[in-house]
Amino acid sequence: ADSTAAAALATDSTVAALAAGSTAAAAGPLDVLGVPGQINLDYAATAPCARAAADAVAELLPWYGSVHRGAGALSRRSTLAYERSRERVGDFLGVRADDHVIFTRNTTDALNLLARALPAGTRVVTFGGEHHANLLPWPAGAVRLPVPGSPATAVRSLDAALRELRRGATEAVPILVAVTGASNVTGEVWPVAELALVAHRYGARIALDAAQLAPHAPVDLAALDVDYVAVSGHKLYAPFGIGVLAGRSDWLDAAPPYLAGGGATLAVGAATHDVRWTTGPARHEAGTPNLLGAVALAAVCQALEAADRTALHLHEQALLAHLRAGLAALPEVCELRTFAAEAPRVGIVSFVVAGRDSAEVAAELAQRWQIGLRDGLFCAHPLARRLLAEAASRNGRADLPATALRASIGLGTTRRHVDHLLAALATLTDAN
Ligand code: PLP
Repeated sequence: ADSTAAAALATDSTVAALAAGSTAAAAGPLDVLGVPGQINLDYAATAPCARAAADAVAELLPWYGSVHRGAGALSRRSTLAYERSRERVGDFLGVRADDHVIFTRNTTDALNLLARALPAGTRVVTFGGEHHANLLPWPAGAVRLPVPGSPATAVRSLDAALRELRRGATEAVPILVAVTGASNVTGEVWPVAELALVAHRYGARIALDAAQLAPHAPVDLAALDVDYVAVSGHKLYAPFGIGVLAGRSDWLDAAPPYLAGGGATLAVGAATHDVRWTTGPARHEAGTPNLLGAVALAAVCQALEAADRTALHLHEQALLAHLRAGLAALPEVCELRTFAAEAPRVGIVSFVVAGRDSAEVAAELAQRWQIGLRDGLFCAHPLARRLLAEAASRNGRADLPATALRASIGLGTTRRHVDHLLAALATLTDAN
């Protein structure tokens, strides 16, 4: 019975259906691909591929040629497609005229690139609630601020930290604040524009890890007044292996190339270290680039720009509210959250089932209910451990497991998917 229900659920996953609240929509560019019978509630890890991405790749495949390295028609078309994709992705991210848009493998790669491009002596400031990708690449001596209890505390805490740093350092010392746009553990949205304002007041720059924010809300570098942004294609309905670092060009042009090799050079002499490196995005993109990834990502960006994002947002928020209310109604389920009061959120909820091992629950949901979600500490160990401890004390429970479950939703999610999860959890917790 379960698999029949799941098969029925998987047929109605179009964006138009989401927006209209019906199931009768025709396939559109933001329709997501999936496997009938499998309910994907793991968008925060990797979102399914959008039709726009699949179509763009299919269209380009016959024209598949060397990027930047050939004179033939295929090569020229491929080069054009790659550079046009860069422009489209840049437009989607609201880049300024002199920003660079560099294709990377993913957000992790983008933030590592930025870490390697920092001027000598740069002080980095992050919060303890970050994903490992925004905690680990930074140089020794990075300041890690405590996980704040509210968006306002985050702003105050950054202000105090930067005041302190500036007191001990001259204006000339570069400072980079690196923050997430939306938490991959709680979905809570961070006050990015306010943090940017504070950073700039102290002459610091700010980098935004938008891996989780960009799939759910417009991210506009110029409007947020953020200096750098990093995103992953595979969380944005495009395939794996493509990501972006976009932002201020000066540090990037002055830094050693992220990868040394062909494409990043102006001229190479006979002596071992006789190299003149190019500037611009190519400086950090040595080697043959991921053309199909870039084209697929650009196609999704365009489709999202053309979509009614307010309608998508409202629909997602309705599903999220339904999911959270359903979880709250299950006595054995405790949700994890960072901010004490309600804050804006994207479609991510982490929770535990008291008395049940999270890995076992996840396996049971997969096997008996065809539901895919994530268990663990979500590559944000400091935050997840802290929130688990807080959930235990807030709910007065000593039987919470040491890891959590995470359900995350997106363009292909329907209310029935959410109901299916809630029904599965109700059965599981009844059996407790
Ligand atoms: N930042 C956040 C907030 C994330 O959620 C993730 C992935 O889960 C990353 C960075 C790293 O993304 P990727 O694994 O695509 O490099």
